[in-house]
Order: sequence, then structure tokens, then C-alpha cells
Amino acid sequence: MTPITSFFRNLEAKCCAACGQMIHEQAESYATECAPCQEQASFDAYKYYHQKR
Ligand SMILES: [Zn+2]
Repeated sequence: MTPITSFFRNLEAKCCAACGQMIHEQAESYATECAPCQEQASFDAYKYYHQKR
């Protein structure tokens, strides 16, 4: 029951939803994944889309 604490923890250090690493970049965006994971995710989606038949 510590909503405020978790709120500030989220502000200080966001963790990547994919690999769990801390996101050091400006994390005020809606992104929940670090840059490499975002790139990887979009690349996988791209590959999957074009491999689908
Ligand atoms: Zn990541």
C-alpha cells in the first residue's frame, strides 16, 4: 500500500518491460522498453510481417 512511493520510483528509474534493464534515457515518454528492445521489437514485427504467408 505505497502508491506514492512506487510513483516516485517509476519516475526515478524506469525498467525495460522486455529485458528488465533500467532505462536511463528521458523516460517521460510512453515507452516501457529500452531503445535496443524497441528496435528489436519493431524489427521482429517487421520480419514477422514479411515472413507471414
Ligand atoms: Zn530492454
